[in-house]
Amino acid sequence: LLLKKTSAKKQEAIDITREIQTAADQNNWRNGALFAFARHCTCALVLNEFEPRICSDYFKLLETLVNKKGWAHNEIDDNAAAHLAACLVGSHCMIPVREGRLALGTWQKIILLEFDGPREREIELVFIETK
Ligand code: ZN
Repeated sequence: LLLKKTSAKKQEAIDITREIQTAADQNNWRNGALFAFARHCTCALVLNEFEPRICSDYFKLLETLVNKKGWAHNEIDDNAAAHLAACLVGSHCMIPVREGRLALGTWQKIILLEFDGPREREIELVFIETK
């Protein structure tokens, strides 16, 4: 199942937990694991708290790790830092599903981290059923 999400800014944290839960509800995904996969090179998926200050800290951390300038790829489309941030975070996550509910911790959300928006993003959702 393909979930489409459009970012509005260059860098943005987008909580997609509710849409993924809705997909589970509509498809009657009951017990198993849900694999979420971002089909892109300059955004990432993370499981963590969606709170404005920590959301800005995710980007702050990545900016301390990845310089904006000096990368070879910048000669192509000037977004190497976005590619490298996406590499560090990862493009997928897996969530257990129990009795139709995403079995997330109290503060855990599924967050799309946009590093090179605004763009339309596609998240592939694959449900793996267990007995
Ligand atoms: Zn690029």
